[in-house]
Amino acid sequence: MAGVMTALPGERKRVCYFFDSDIANHHYGSGHPMKPHRIKMTHSLTMNYGLYKRMEIFRAKPATRKEMAQFHTDEYVELLARITPDNMEAYAREQAKFNVGDDCPVFDGLFEYCSISAGGSMEGAARLSRDKCDIAINWAGGLHHAKKAEASGFCYINDIVLGILELLRYHSRVLYVDIDVHHGDGVEEAFYTTDRVMTCSFHKFGEFFPGTGELRDIGHGKGKHYSVNFPLRDGITDENYRSVFEPVISKIMEFYRPSAVVLQCGSDSLSGDRLGSFNLSMRGHANCVSFIKSFGLPLLLLGGGGYTIRNVSRAWAYETGLAAGMELGSEIPMNEYYEYFGPTYRLDVPATNMEDLNTREYLEKIKAQVFENLRHTAHAPSVQSHSTPTMPIDLDDDVDEDLDDPEERKPQRLMDAMVEKDNEFEDSDDEGQGVGPRKDRQSHANGDSNGKPSTTPAPVPATEAVPSMPTEQDGPAEAQADTSVAMADA
Ligand SMILES: [Zn+2]
Repeated sequence: MAGVMTALPGERKRVCYFFDSDIANHHYGSGHPMKPHRIKMTHSLTMNYGLYKRMEIFRAKPATRKEMAQFHTDEYVELLARITPDNMEAYAREQAKFNVGDDCPVFDGLFEYCSISAGGSMEGAARLSRDKCDIAINWAGGLHHAKKAEASGFCYINDIVLGILELLRYHSRVLYVDIDVHHGDGVEEAFYTTDRVMTCSFHKFGEFFPGTGELRDIGHGKGKHYSVNFPLRDGITDENYRSVFEPVISKIMEFYRPSAVVLQCGSDSLSGDRLGSFNLSMRGHANCVSFIKSFGLPLLLLGGGGYTIRNVSRAWAYETGLAAGMELGSEIPMNEYYEYFGPTYRLDVPATNMEDLNTREYLEKIKAQVFENLRHTAHAPSVQSHSTPTMPIDLDDDVDEDLDDPEERKPQRLMDAMVEKDNEFEDSDDEGQGVGPRKDRQSHANGDSNGKPSTTPAPVPATEAVPSMPTEQDGPAEAQADTSVAMADA
């Protein structure tokens, strides 16, 4: 029985969807809430609904060490490439230095896992930049906590930063929006001192990982006012989320005028998440995708958190449908994970009656302050759209790319999309009622801040001594110089 879907009104978008079935072969370890397997469940749903008819499906070339080192330090990438469960004892010092272990464990194939995640986001960005598609999707990406030289919050390599760097080669201004329940700290930090990227995160704030993302954290130096944080309380409903998300995004579009958008669709903001504490239904979450899509800009859709995996796959499949202009029917089609979706076997993730601690007054107050901050970004930095920013490290490929170049980042069409029948149910042990048995196992897992003070500013490049407001109508040369500063030392 194939799934039912109906075409939505509106112009049809060209969608590139990245999936590598090898992602599901990686395990963070028994009891760890992060389950790469959820990507394959999502894929199974999308394929069985028939979405392969509406989009191009690719397996990305895994990201190389050199590519990762465009953002991360060589030493950190090297550790990820070398360390295994068998040799990890020899790397005790490096593990402590780079925060590898505990929340971010060493597991077999760790580097391959990072390569798949990052490769999809980079290739998605590359195809968007080259106008090969309108929307690129990589559910294995969105790992927003990873830092330049530090693993954090289940994330090792920041595929989002790498994808945005790729977009910045062609786009003057990139907007990053993060709807994960956790603050998008790694991406914010990477672009904290540049006006070429605006980051905007809606997240739970207060006694919650990672502890950053205060309203008053707005960027620094040339990046001042180009970081937007909307701190939220537990239990936010669809209606209340929408009442702040849509006006804030509209205001950003109006003032900042980005030419490309990256949306991190962390689904731990869904109701019933094992780690999150929001109350968004699948439709409330997906409204963010529809709304962002409605602006018609090149869009990179990425995954992120999401720990009640039957709901993660529901939401991301539904959102894949929206990207492809299709509304998926509520009856879940037969697929190899069908039993995960009982007892309802419906696509919906309903909200509950939990209390919403976000009052109207609170939301209005925060929104007003965000608007006030955004006013300073009026007249977005005007890098001429044809200028190509200087990157700190050259990519292998030329800017005047030739897609026949064997070195070019070029996706392979995925041939095995429909033939995955290996019945992996080993992750079902803690897929109970949304609250795992080891909720208190880890700092990220139990929702505690890891002690990092929320007021810690992102590292400021030494070369940028004088914090200054971005001037109106910055010329291309200045914008280029700023980019290399921000990228080199973000
Ligand atoms: Zn999260």
